[in-house]
Amino acid sequence: MAQEDVFKKLVAHCKEYGYVFQSSEIYDGLSAVYDYGQYGVELKNNIKKYWWDSMVLLHENVVGIDSAIFMHPTIWKASGHVDAFNDPLIDNKDSKKRYRADVLIEEQLAKIEDKIQKEVDKARKRFGEAFDEQQFRTTNARVLENQQKWDELHQRFSNALNDSNLEELKQIIIDNEIACPISGTRNWTDVRQFNLMFSTEMGSTADGAMKVFLRPETAQGIFVNYLNVQKTGRMKIPFGIAQIGKAFRNEIVARQFIFRMREFEQMELQFFVKPGTELDWFEQWKTTRMKWHQALGFGAENYRFHEHEKLAHYANAAVDVEFRFPFGFKEVEGIHSRTDFDLSQHEQFSGKKLRYFDPELNESYVPYVVETSIGVDRMFLQVISAAYHEEEVTGANGEKDIRTVLRIPAVLAPVKLAVMPLVKKEGLPEKAREIIDHLKFDFNCQYDEKDSIGKRYRRQDAIGTPFCVTVDHQTMQDNTVTIRYRDTMEQERVPVENLRDIISGEVSFRRLFEKLK
Ligand code: ATP
Repeated sequence: MAQEDVFKKLVAHCKEYGYVFQSSEIYDGLSAVYDYGQYGVELKNNIKKYWWDSMVLLHENVVGIDSAIFMHPTIWKASGHVDAFNDPLIDNKDSKKRYRADVLIEEQLAKIEDKIQKEVDKARKRFGEAFDEQQFRTTNARVLENQQKWDELHQRFSNALNDSNLEELKQIIIDNEIACPISGTRNWTDVRQFNLMFSTEMGSTADGAMKVFLRPETAQGIFVNYLNVQKTGRMKIPFGIAQIGKAFRNEIVARQFIFRMREFEQMELQFFVKPGTELDWFEQWKTTRMKWHQALGFGAENYRFHEHEKLAHYANAAVDVEFRFPFGFKEVEGIHSRTDFDLSQHEQFSGKKLRYFDPELNESYVPYVVETSIGVDRMFLQVISAAYHEEEVTGANGEKDIRTVLRIPAVLAPVKLAVMPLVKKEGLPEKAREIIDHLKFDFNCQYDEKDSIGKRYRRQDAIGTPFCVTVDHQTMQDNTVTIRYRDTMEQERVPVENLRDIISGEVSFRRLFEKLK
């Protein structure tokens, strides 16, 4: 199936099974805003727990905060967001569709990469075991030609971004014959800058209301509280402050489901270090964060680091963690060495000292900061895209069938087990409820008695429930049940009293955290 179709199915599946709904759907929706349904919210909470505990529980020197969304407007002046939090936009005059100029060029680069990859894959098939990828990439004429094209385009693109040269961005689009995917034409407007911050007013207009912004990142709430936390928590550098919270950006292009939203959630860590040590810490956090992603078992080949074409105004090193979504490799997380930019700016704009007294050096300095910043929603999309599978299975009567299954890691799955009485009589429902009453303190359980057992299994597969427990007549005699495993579809007979241990082992955060060592 084409990857585009997989993605469409995934979006439909998220709606059909209570994961994600379009916001304000009965009013025809609100663009790039989404609501999480009954299973979506559970998965989201589990992702947040995985992140929060891996930061705050597993690192002695990391603590969390929860700062307000509204902040003093000068904060956004100091941080550079009022003047520089812009995206370059361009319109196609025929389709009247708006695009991010940088994204159009990035997509062009990805197309060239794809061509190269196709050549490599073809050759691998042809040569089999004997294939030497490195040699092929450095000698094959077609690959070399495309690589040169990529290098040239990439260089030109980086230069244009670094010089904020909007005319050059447009010229690159024209020279590369990039067409609007809707109209197919190359009839483009000039490129303009567009500020992504939402604003509103605080206080009544009669008293002269103050213009305030909805935060476009959670990080600034950490910077302006860093000394409060350092002093009250007696924190010693190096230390980190973690935060999970909503952020808002008036995105120009918002067409990829929850990948790019106007209201979303971030999980950010600001790690405060001694000046001069930041690049070492940057490398350490790169490793730590990649491990965190890969511990979920979606395959190392589906991740890569991507160096930034242009460093943000505050950074001296930056890298993205990219995941292979159904629409290609895209950023899920940014890791930035933010220098002392933010704290120095806040010192200057607030007139307050934000220095740390280092008892070892016996001197004060403005700490440097390494940031890791990941979107909860993009992480959600990563999990759900890796989990979505359609498989051919053979039913009891020998007929072939397709089952749709969400292979969500059990530890993150919204519902851990479904308990099903084989029939709705003879005491089986009561027995099933008794099992749930015993297990509900530990796990999110679901009672399911409607339809045949086969149909119920399929429903739970579609939700991603890792365990189904069936109560039958034998249960009433010997207190054993059938447990069925989502991924293998294997079934086994086990005593009811063993259920808790079997499930605990599989859904344990502890087991996941041990992989992070
Ligand atoms: P992009 O280049 O995709 O616009 P960015 O580089 O501006 O992203 P950052 O400012 O580094 O993103 O934000 C950190 C993380 O926040 C991103 O890696 C992403 O996971 C998440 N994020 C940013 N913007 C959005 C959005 N509009 N919708 C959902 N998640 C987002």
